[in-house]
Amino acid sequence: MTAPGLVVKRRLIVLLCVFAVVVITLIGRLAQIQFVQGSELQKKVSVQQNTGRIISPIRGTIYDRNGKKLAISVQAGTISCNPNEIKKNKKLSVDQVADQLAEILSLNRDDVLRLITKKANSAIIKRKVDRDIEIQIRTWMSENSVKGINIDEDAKRYYPNGNLMSHILGFAGDDNQGLMGGIEEVMDKYLKGTPGKILSEVDARGSAVPSDSEKRIDAQDGLNVVLTIDETIQYLLSKSLDKAVEDNKVKGGAIGIVMNPKTGDIIAMVSKPDYDLNSPFAYPAKIEIDGVDPSEWVERSSSSVNILSKTVWRNRALTDTYEPGSTFKSITTAAGLEEGVVTPETITNDLPIKVAGWPKPINCWRVGRPHGTESFREAVYNSCNPAFVKVAQGLGLERFYSYVKAFGFMDKTGIELKGEAKSQFQSKPKEIDMAVASFGQRFTITPLQLATAYCALVNGGKLMKPRLIKELTDSEGNTVEKYEPQVVRTVISEQTSQTVRDILEGVVAKGTGTNAYVKGYRVGGKTGTSETTVQNVYIASFCGFAPADNPEIVTLIVLIDPRGDSHMGGVIAAPIVGKISEDTLSYMQVERQYSQEDLKAMTQDVYVPDVRKKTVGEAVKVLKSAGLKYSIEGEGNNESNVVEQVPKPNSVIPESSTVILYTYKPEGEQTVKMPDLSGKTISEAIGAANRSGLNIRVSGNGVVYKQQYAEGVAVKKGSVVLVEFRNMDNVE
Ligand SMILES: [Zn+2]
Repeated sequence: MTAPGLVVKRRLIVLLCVFAVVVITLIGRLAQIQFVQGSELQKKVSVQQNTGRIISPIRGTIYDRNGKKLAISVQAGTISCNPNEIKKNKKLSVDQVADQLAEILSLNRDDVLRLITKKANSAIIKRKVDRDIEIQIRTWMSENSVKGINIDEDAKRYYPNGNLMSHILGFAGDDNQGLMGGIEEVMDKYLKGTPGKILSEVDARGSAVPSDSEKRIDAQDGLNVVLTIDETIQYLLSKSLDKAVEDNKVKGGAIGIVMNPKTGDIIAMVSKPDYDLNSPFAYPAKIEIDGVDPSEWVERSSSSVNILSKTVWRNRALTDTYEPGSTFKSITTAAGLEEGVVTPETITNDLPIKVAGWPKPINCWRVGRPHGTESFREAVYNSCNPAFVKVAQGLGLERFYSYVKAFGFMDKTGIELKGEAKSQFQSKPKEIDMAVASFGQRFTITPLQLATAYCALVNGGKLMKPRLIKELTDSEGNTVEKYEPQVVRTVISEQTSQTVRDILEGVVAKGTGTNAYVKGYRVGGKTGTSETTVQNVYIASFCGFAPADNPEIVTLIVLIDPRGDSHMGGVIAAPIVGKISEDTLSYMQVERQYSQEDLKAMTQDVYVPDVRKKTVGEAVKVLKSAGLKYSIEGEGNNESNVVEQVPKPNSVIPESSTVILYTYKPEGEQTVKMPDLSGKTISEAIGAANRSGLNIRVSGNGVVYKQQYAEGVAVKKGSVVLVEFRNMDNVE
């Protein structure tokens, strides 16, 4: 047995021994550091003291499919200082350095003073300094023999197109990192590159040793991203949407998507309102935000960022869902045809149909004037709801929803951008849910889902994954990685796809989509007019494709809350799809195929010949041979001289327009009052305008929808006035 005191003593001895060993080891280690590694360690320390100077890599460029630059990095400098060196300047005092540097860099003088007197070996004064400022600093430094200021290469992000790609690209933040779920963010790991370093050695007191001993580790530049977007088509789409928003007093935003149905490529994608990528935090131009005074806007404040995230920063093409309305009837049509529930020639009707769980019978949209008995093809042309309910009922719940799923409406599309919203369907749909879903109501999807499904409808039946990124390239332009088009699944047969294309071409040629008609390019598609859950807020849309026999593009236009003359998709969205299809196909050099009716209805433009100084007789002959009419103002006969003419020589006007010939010098401008043309057909409007001494340029079909000048406005006699026509009958 051992006494407790002895145990304590023994433990103490053991502890002391352990302690001694530790101390001896430490001393040995210290000695080794001191004597053996001394010089190397000191070097390491001195280098570590000054690792603040980083060389930013050049961020990769983002290109459109044709190599046009959408996001570039321009040279900019980072200005830093070594406070220990600043003190040693002979010509300038520290205060003078602060004063002069602050002036050149447009900074607060006290802030600069604080930085250049900081107890550190390095401090950053300003980043992303433009080239010309950089030159000013270099000049100032050499003139005053300033020491202790460093200028290092850096880069600044610049977006040559401003607003044009805001939602696709997102923007790069202050540290060149991507933000907002756009390409800048999702491709950041490829774009950003690897930073380099400048290691300048300092002595024990922190003074820099001469700069020729600086060591550089070069930065590795980022990869370039090539998109599937075509900048020109993106521009056309953006301009069309701006005009549509203005013309139709659209309050809730507008969306446009153009896709290549064969590959799933996104050729253009626009969401309005948008913002300038070069100043993403600024008060957004062109929109009013309720309760916000632009003069009180504070950039980057949490409240302003909150407002931006809810408005202009949203890419509504994929972050928002909506009720597709009648544009969805094409999906029901495809399912019915594929399953043999219906054929184009099946006789049906649009008599009110009673469905259990719905308070009143489901009617055709044209309630007072139903279309009656018709073939299924005609029911699609006329967009008769009861006909689609019958097709859905023929399919039954399981088959109907299996097609909804197969067309991709239950899943996110998987596009490369962040923020895709999830569609909303009843978790256990009942008969009534299916009945109203057959014509696109009581469920919500994203515009991108619908455009993607239309690609499958018309491309032979394959659901493609939307593709936005084509490839990655290095700084020499070599392809590093290719992103191939991806087929998700086959949804319908080539035969069904062909029948759907044929029927939907008829919708535009003869049905509710006539305002999307384009001479020479066969456009097919479907109108949509739906209401949001908020009462009296309408959504007008149109989803189309062209050319109908071999579609190169699918175009979806969605206008949310239009408050102009019409809220109907067939009136206000269809013409935009027509215009985009025409502009895009002609830009893509797709040949026009004119039908006989097209050729009959076409007017050519002609140049107005110069007939001044000719006799009236000669002038009339020249005008007639140019395909123009004439009207003579003033006294005189065939031998009198033409003194003045309207329109002026070399203006381009529609053939058969009337040129006014003056045999006297008119005093001032001869004007006439613009007549009211509303509701007139094309020939009626031409007649009325001619009687008033005016010519008109016709756009569209049907009856006068809009005239360039209001009734009664004084217009120069003989001039050409723009008049838009729309089909207003049987338009949904
Ligand atoms: Zn009907």
